[in-house]
Parts: sequence; structure tokens; C-alpha cells
Amino acid sequence: MVIETNSPEETFELGRQLGQKATAGEVYTLIGDLGVGKTALTQGIAKGLGIDEPISSPTFTIVQVYESGRIPFYHFDVYRIGDVEEMDEIGFDDYVYGEGLTMIEWANLIEEILPEHYSQITIEKDLERGFDYRRITIEEI
Ligand code: ADP
Ligand code: MG
Repeated sequence: MVIETNSPEETFELGRQLGQKATAGEVYTLIGDLGVGKTALTQGIAKGLGIDEPISSPTFTIVQVYESGRIPFYHFDVYRIGDVEEMDEIGFDDYVYGEGLTMIEWANLIEEILPEHYSQITIEKDLERGFDYRRITIEEI
């Protein structure tokens, strides 16, 4: 599925719809360059889950857990992971096979430990379509 957005608000709204539909145990991966809109989409997902607290980037903590929504939200940013074994220490499997929605930014860095099935979200710019254009592709893996 491909969705095109032309503002951060539209990307947020797409995230909100995804968050409303999300069910426990689902895993989303999120791939895209810096400044492409990963945080905008994630904030929308949180909103759709019913989380009202602000979503911060878990870059230094690897995972942020939000329990105030309809289901738990496990937000990973694995950009700084050195070795996939670090993910074991964090308890990665407990989240991925747990009762919440797991979202993993930079999931391509831990490809070998991803579950068998997940929804892969890719956000891309296309400057020929304008500065605010984003192509958001959602694929079932
Ligand atoms: P990332 O988390 O991927 O680094 P952010 O969500 O923090 O990216 O930032 C995205 C930036 O791009 C923001 O400054 C936002 O205003 C801008 N932007 C412009 N158009 C869009 C769009 N269609 N969707 C999302 N963000 C957009
Ligand atoms: Mg971000």
C-alpha cells in the first residue's frame, strides 16, 4: 500500500489511523532518512492508540514504553545498537512477542532478529514532487 502526504499533519493523520487499527502483538518497522517524518508518523500512531503524553525519541535508551493507551506501545530506535546481542539484554523478544504494538525505527540494522511477520513502513522524499511530499509504503512481510 502506498500513501502520499504533503504535510506533517497528513503524515500524523496517517499514523493516527494506523494506531487506531493496531492490535496487540503487531510489529511495525519504520525506515527512512533523517528528517523524513518518522517522528511525525510515530506521534500520530501514539495518538491513535490513545496516548496523550509526548513521544520523545528513544535514541539513547533504545526503547520507550508507553502504557497509557488502549494497548501498550513499545517504541524502539535501534540506530545506536552496536550488536544484535544488545537487543537480547534489553528484552527485545518480550516486547515483540508481548501484548502491545511494537514499532522499530532503523529496523534494517537488526534484520536478523526481526519476527517472521511484520508491517514494514518506508517513508521517502521525492524533491521533484515538492519539499513536503512524502511517499509512505506499507508492506506486509
Ligand atoms: P525524522 O523523525 O524522520 O527524523 P521528523 O518527523 O522529526 O523526521 O521531521 C520531519 C520534518 O519534515 C519536520 O520538520 C516536518 O515539518 C517536515 N515535513 C514536511 N513535510 C512533511 C510530510 N509530508 N510528512 C512529515 N513531515 C514533513
Ligand atoms: Mg525522529
